[in-house]
Order: sequence, then C-alpha cells, then structure tokens
Amino acid sequence: MKALDELTFDNRFARLGDAFSTHVLPEPLDEPRLVVASKAAMALLDLDPAVAQTPVFAELFGGHKLWAEAEPRAMVYSGHQFGGYTPQLGDGRGLLLGEVYNEAGEHWDLHLKGAGMTPYSRMGDGRAVLRSSIREFLASEALHALGIPTSRALCVIGSSTPVWREKQERGAMVLRLAHSHIRFGHFEYFYYTKKPEQQAELAEHVLNLHYPECREQPEPYLAMFREIVERNAEMIAKWQAYGFCHGVMNTDNMSILGITFDFGPFAFLDDFDAHFICNHSDHEGRYSFSNQVPIGQWNLSALAQALTPFISVDALKEALGLYLPLYQAHYLDLMRRRLGLTIAEDDDQRLVERLLKLMQNSGVDYTLFFRRLGDESAALAVTRLRDDFVDLAGFDAWAEQYKARVARDGDYTQEQRRERMHAVNPLYILRNYLAQNAIAAAESGDYSEVRRLHEVLTRPFEEQAGMEQYAQRPPDWGKHLEISCSS
Ligand code: AMP
Ligand code: MG
Repeated sequence: MKALDELTFDNRFARLGDAFSTHVLPEPLDEPRLVVASKAAMALLDLDPAVAQTPVFAELFGGHKLWAEAEPRAMVYSGHQFGGYTPQLGDGRGLLLGEVYNEAGEHWDLHLKGAGMTPYSRMGDGRAVLRSSIREFLASEALHALGIPTSRALCVIGSSTPVWREKQERGAMVLRLAHSHIRFGHFEYFYYTKKPEQQAELAEHVLNLHYPECREQPEPYLAMFREIVERNAEMIAKWQAYGFCHGVMNTDNMSILGITFDFGPFAFLDDFDAHFICNHSDHEGRYSFSNQVPIGQWNLSALAQALTPFISVDALKEALGLYLPLYQAHYLDLMRRRLGLTIAEDDDQRLVERLLKLMQNSGVDYTLFFRRLGDESAALAVTRLRDDFVDLAGFDAWAEQYKARVARDGDYTQEQRRERMHAVNPLYILRNYLAQNAIAAAESGDYSEVRRLHEVLTRPFEEQAGMEQYAQRPPDWGKHLEISCSS
C-alpha cells in the first residue's frame, strides 16, 4: 500500500512533445473537499484507501498541489461530432497529469477533468460541475462492476467555486483513470491536418504501448485496427445487452482501447425502449439506443479513413466487415446467458427479438425482468412475469417457446439456474433517478447518498441487505428525467 507521495510516474505521452499536447497547470478549485472516492480504483494505483480522507488528497485532485514528477498536459485531437467534422478539439477542460505505474507493472493515466481553461477550451470555461462529475464517477465504477470495459474514476472533488450552466452550480473535478486517453479523434487530427510524421509517431506509440502483440503480425497496423474493431464490437454488445445508452458517440469520445469513455447525458434503460434517446440535444436520434450498433461501425470507418496512410483500403474494409458479425456473436452470447441458456441454438436470435418486442410494447423494466426470470424455474417465473405484459397472447406464445427451449438446454437444478442467471443479471443499475437523488443531496452538501449508491453499484449482482430501494422501478417523477447535456 502506497502513500500519495509514493506514486511512480512515467509520462510516456507527454514525451511525444508539443505537437501532441500542451503544458498547462490545473486551475485550483476553491475550498476543495472529497465527495466520493473509489477504493477499487485506488487499489489500481496501490494507494492505501485511508489517504482519501487526508486533506492533501482533495488538494491534489482539486488542482492545488501537484507531484514533482507530474507533467500536466492538454492533449490535442479533433473528431466527428453528430456526423460533422470539427477540425480542432482537445482537452478543453481536462488535463493528463501523468502516467503512474503500479506494482503489477500497469500504467494508468491520471486525467483531471474540470481542471480549468486550456488552449483548446474554445468558448468553454474549462470547468465541470458537481452534477456531471458525480454522474461520470458513478457510471465508470458501475459499468466496471457489470463487466463492461470502461475508463475508471478515482474520486470526485467538490468545491465552492461558482460555475454557470443553465443556472449557477458548483465546480468539481473528477480524476479519471485509463490505460490511455487516446481517442479516434487523435488519429483524425493528424490525418486531416496532413501531418504524416506525427501521425506515424502516434500510430507507433499506440502500437508499442497498447497493442504490442500486434507487432508479431505480418501487418502490425492492420492487426491493431482489427483488434480495435473487435474490442468495440464487444463493448457495444455489452452496452446493448445491459441497456446502456452512451448518448454522445462522437469520434472524439471513442477510445482507441475500446473502453466506454467520456460520460455525458448517458442513461441505463428503465423500461425497455429500442428507440430511447438519452441526449436531449440529439433531435434526430443519431445516438438512440438501437442506433449505437451501426454508429459503432460508422465511428470505426471514420478511424479507418484516418489510417489510410498506413493500411490499404481493401484491408481496412475487410476488417470493418468483422464488426457486425462479432457484435452479433457477443450480443447473442450474453443474451443467451441472461436467459439462463447454456448452449446455442439457431433460433435464439428470434427468441430474444420476440421478447424485446413484447417488452417494448408493454414498457417492461429491462433489468428487473431478467433478474426475476432467474428467481424461479422457467415455468414459475413466466407465470409471475406475465402480469407485466399487455399483449398476453403474445407473451404466452413466447413463454411456451422459452420453456421448451429451457427444457432442451440441459438438466440442472433451480439452484444452479438461479446462481448462473443472477451472476449475469444485475439487481442494481445506475438508474437516472437514483443518480438524481444522490446529486440533489450532494448539491446541498450531503455526500452520503452518493457514497451509498456507489457502494451498492460496486456489487450489482449481489442482493444486499437493506438496499431494496435501489432495486425498484423509478417513481413517476423519475421516469423521463431530462438530463441536462451541459456538464
Ligand atoms: P464532450 O461533449 O464533453 O465530449 O466535449 C466535447 C469537447 O468540448 C471536448 O473537447 C471538451 O474538452 C470540450 N469541452 C466541453 N465542455 C467544456 C468546458 N466547459 N470548457 C471547455 N471545454 C469544454
Ligand atoms: Mg468528450
């Protein structure tokens, strides 16, 4: 276990130099205070969890203090936002403080979001508000607990610094951890600004540090792109299987590592709704729940375009062709497991589709349905769940098909079925209204609800005593919350 001053830095991205990032010091928040910290994320840096309670912790992650070995840099990138190209973005309010390596030899980027203005702030103030910082923190740690690849969050630091959004709010910072903060938009930036040397340097950097196994392949860059396609297909399959809607899948928010990245107006589905749009400025529904699948491919094509200096167009197209079949395979595999099935049958895709259609028509709670399905034998469970459906004849037909399918699947006890299903069907997810309750309390200075909710979400598959209120459908006020896109 390490103290805060015992972290070991190795700032590999900073060493790429000024063409890739700019040195900027964090701008401190007034009266920094700890809102919440993740013990699990601290463990990634070998940090003793007790250090979160020391004043220096809030000073470090509130922008007041810096390690001597840190090299805070604002990275430059660009990206396609809602389908249109924005030639220069960059860390407008976040700084890569440095890269820490832990005792297991893993490197972790320390990225401080809300750290003040940078050369890339454009019209922005460089700040992040408490509300959005809590949302990013909770989402990162909750997705990780569900087994969905994601950036992590070490802590949220609150403050008394006023920040203007639709109304006056308070500034906060979230310390994000990831093995890399390189986005699709980094490659796009050097491609569209026609800087082939830096483009090559970036590609070498990513290949050497993050995809070293691709070096062994006859065409290392192609192997790396293929791997990025595969990881994205798997990540998005998990989003779809668990009802996660990202909301802002611009290419500057897509990680080169295939992890969920840059949380904005995201939401988990309450009632199943394939057409759900969580981002209220997304009038066309470009990033609606079901559109995440084709948009994943669109984004990979944008990255492919930026890689044309290194890889032939034919090879890129072939690699892009892997996306949908891989997505389908991962998605179906997870959905089968959510249904308690252990072997694959040809008709499983239809079984899933018919269920989702019924859930859509009746507004059935996506998370609780699967959890309850595992509570009992298939026959008993469908009898109990039947009441939630409007199209009873449709549900009965599906239920018959499901029971027959379960009977063909294998011989196991109800105990085994429950255990297996509960291990993939969470009881607790980050519902918008739960986040909203925690944020409202935090905005009035009470952080206990954020901390409790975070605790519950770190063990989403385990029934926790006294936590029934976190496993409920939203109350009426919490069903269609307008989550502000400003952050
Ligand atoms: P996002 O939609 O949060 O992914 O942000 C898109 C771009 O705008 C990123 O490059 C951010 O750094 C930048 N940005 C967002 N909010 C602010 C802000 N308040 N001040 C400066 N830059 C910002
Ligand atoms: Mg972003």
